[in-house]
Amino acid sequence: MTVTDESRTLHDFEEALHESSDELAHLRMPAHALGQQLSNSAELMDWLYRGGWTRWGWPETIGGFGGPATIRCQIYEKLALSGYRIPDHLFVLEVVGPAVVSHAPSLAAEMMPKALSGVELWCQGFSEPEAGSDLASLRTRAVARDDGSFSVSGQKIWTSYGARADRIVLLARTGSADSRHRGLSMMLVDLDQDGIERRPIALASGREELSEIFFTDVRVDSSRLIGDIDGGWKVAMDLLQYERGVYAWMRMASTTAHLAQILRQMSDKPDALAADVVGRAYLALAGLRARTASTLRRLSADEVVGAQTSVDKLLLSTAEQKVLDASLTLLDAELLIGDRAVDAGWRDEWWYSRAASVYGGAREIQHSIIADRILGLPKESSRGR
Ligand SMILES: Cc1cc2nc3c(=O)[nH]c(=O)nc-3n(C[C@H](O)[C@H](O)[C@H](O)COP(=O)(O)OP(=O)(O)OC[C@H]3O[C@@H](n4cnc5c(N)ncnc54)[C@H](O)[C@@H]3O)c2cc1C
Repeated sequence: MTVTDESRTLHDFEEALHESSDELAHLRMPAHALGQQLSNSAELMDWLYRGGWTRWGWPETIGGFGGPATIRCQIYEKLALSGYRIPDHLFVLEVVGPAVVSHAPSLAAEMMPKALSGVELWCQGFSEPEAGSDLASLRTRAVARDDGSFSVSGQKIWTSYGARADRIVLLARTGSADSRHRGLSMMLVDLDQDGIERRPIALASGREELSEIFFTDVRVDSSRLIGDIDGGWKVAMDLLQYERGVYAWMRMASTTAHLAQILRQMSDKPDALAADVVGRAYLALAGLRARTASTLRRLSADEVVGAQTSVDKLLLSTAEQKVLDASLTLLDAELLIGDRAVDAGWRDEWWYSRAASVYGGAREIQHSIIADRILGLPKESSRGR
């Protein structure tokens, strides 16, 4: 694909959005109830897929139209800046999808079209009650059976959309209990089978977007493996890199749209305090944008970005929190107590921004990675010696 084709696609996309503006108007309203939000997300996924817009930038083997991953970024950004919530389905897919395409091409060809078209919602099952930051200590087991399939038993927690998703990208232990990162495997598991119990977790925002998932002797075919047996850590590390690529760009685009919305909604003329708050939020976003663009270029060139992406994650959580804090400072006090959909929408976004420095690797962990692996500072235990 040439640059001209890409700009043509984006221009056509803008026109299509404009022409369907009335038809899609209800999708520009914030939905506080998670069920409504996910149903809006599926409806927008369907519209995007039918128009071919979400097929650009994905390989033809999975129903895409080809072209660079960066075209996905541009489509998502236009969507966000046009007042739409980027579909929840895509947030998951941009984290797990590229890893499935690279490490399990046949499985991707079979399964990803349903996720890309919004027919299915997927989720990511890594974290466990005692394995979040220390992921390599996870205990969910996948035991090989005589017929080559696996029997999965254990518990996942904090799974986004876990109570409503159709399939989960699961990280489980196939090696011995003390095999740490060497004994993990990744697999795609259907969530509608016997032996699976899901319990939604109510968050401070009142929404139940996370959940616990319990597995008891759940059969998983060997064709569902993503990567090699005991090779799940490598896939997980690749996946975390992608999370700093297109996914981070999507969050940056959504956050930019939030800042633009704050400026439109501000009732008073900006005073010095407002200018300061907006300026700081804008600078945080600009830093995130520049950094993520550079990481995307490196990922597109098949470079291993590794520990450097801890910087991206810190910039992402800082920008999200600064922008959503700006909504609290600058918008009406009604935002805190108002019962209009728009007030509830801002509250939901503010609560979620608090989690930005936890999910996908907590802030303190990113600080440690930067200290150890980028700056080469002495380990904490040896300080002061
Ligand atoms: C909104 C949200 C969505 C999520 N979605 C998913 C999902 O879809 N799938 C999934 O698998 N997981 C998901 N998670 C889980 C997330 O990945 C974990 O919360 C995260 O990895 C932290 O793990 P933990 O919660 O077990 O905290 P812990 O690892 O117990 O950490 C608790 C605190 O201790 C600090 N800490 C821990 N170890 C160290 C250390 N060595 N040095 C210094 N400080 C340390 C941490 O920084 C943190 O502040 C989600 C979490 C949130 C909040």
